[in-house]
Amino acid sequence: MSHVTHLECSKCGKHYNSEEVHQLCECGGPLLVRYDLEQVKKNFHKEDLKGREPSLWRYRELLPLKDKNNQVSLGEGMTPIIKMDVAGPAIGLKNLYLKDEGVIPSGTFKSRGAAVGVSRAKELGIKTLAMPTNGNAGAAWATYCARAGIKCVIVMPQDAPEITRNECAITGADLYLVDGLISDAGKIVGRAVQKYGWFDASTLKEPYRIEGKKTMGLEIAEQFNWEVPDVILYPTGGGVGIIGIYKALQELRSIGWIGEKMPRLVAVQAEGCAPIVKAWNGRKTESEFWQNAYTCAFGINVPKALGDFLVLEAIYKTDGCAVAVSDEEILKAQAVLAAKEGAFVCPEGASLYSAARKLREQGWLKEDETVLLLNTGSGLKYPETVKVEVPLLQPDDDIPEV
Ligand SMILES: *Cc1c(COP(=O)(O)O)cnc(C)c1O
Ligand SMILES: [Zn+2]
Repeated sequence: MSHVTHLECSKCGKHYNSEEVHQLCECGGPLLVRYDLEQVKKNFHKEDLKGREPSLWRYRELLPLKDKNNQVSLGEGMTPIIKMDVAGPAIGLKNLYLKDEGVIPSGTFKSRGAAVGVSRAKELGIKTLAMPTNGNAGAAWATYCARAGIKCVIVMPQDAPEITRNECAITGADLYLVDGLISDAGKIVGRAVQKYGWFDASTLKEPYRIEGKKTMGLEIAEQFNWEVPDVILYPTGGGVGIIGIYKALQELRSIGWIGEKMPRLVAVQAEGCAPIVKAWNGRKTESEFWQNAYTCAFGINVPKALGDFLVLEAIYKTDGCAVAVSDEEILKAQAVLAAKEGAFVCPEGASLYSAARKLREQGWLKEDETVLLLNTGSGLKYPETVKVEVPLLQPDDDIPEV
């Protein structure tokens, strides 16, 4: 069923057998899954999608799983795209859309990477995997590992969103907190996988998570009826989503499902942790480690991403850009989207709205352009970002008219 031909190093181009378990290339570069796109083009047609399940598995010809029996799924994917008819014009954008990954099981798009990553791990016979996480990825992988019967070891910063701990714990993962950042968690995991021979499921250290996240790009194209939007804004941490979306669009172009036009891809980061923005401003092809990283948008608190050069390439090649916004602006945007549109998005997703406002003010975005905000998760996972004071009534009290 799969059209995978091999794994290819994104740095040096070396090929690897996709039927073997691989992590990084010997040169340290992340491996990407390559398909026989000529065969896909011959055997896969837009009409085939009619009547298929509304999940990311509808694109199985462009996914790496060989045997459907290994599919580990909770119905992830095909999330709604909602037009922002009030919040858009409020910042001078007539065609502003939000793709809402908050409705996915586990409440974030991390389930996409986990569904495909864990399915493929199962197919390759992996028994134990370990990963560092800022919370959401760990929660998603723990969930899918539970369903697959794979042992899962998770290490996360102690101040990662508390709910993600509970998700890991209740799904039976071995969970550890670290007094440090995700980069510290990564080092601890690195030592453990060396010592015990576990599979390292860190961001981009295995090739299949990208394939899951890539399906966001496939869906966007299908949902816009194969006319891609002018601009896609993405909250960038490890960058897997933006790399995946770019890969998806390239593959769709190769099989002739979309035209030459690519959306301009925008990486949005928080001012407290903006290594990609800094690199882009300096027209660099790689980022530097960001000291003392902090933001309330925990999913994008990544001081140095292994795939930074791929993120930057996606931005440069599509004439995109990179923008940083402050935590204060993020929380304001979160409140605006909720109150004006009923969209209770996560802080990472909210950052996109303030970035869009800035880019519109600078004239980088035009009033009529179709602009898509990729909201990566639900605000429900971050109850502590909302501070409210609610009047307490006694049973006999009356409330004033509104
Ligand atoms: C992980 C995460 C991100 C960043 O995702 P990448 O694709 O790794 O850049 C953004 N938002 C949320 C909610 C996340 O959990
Ligand atoms: Zn290499």
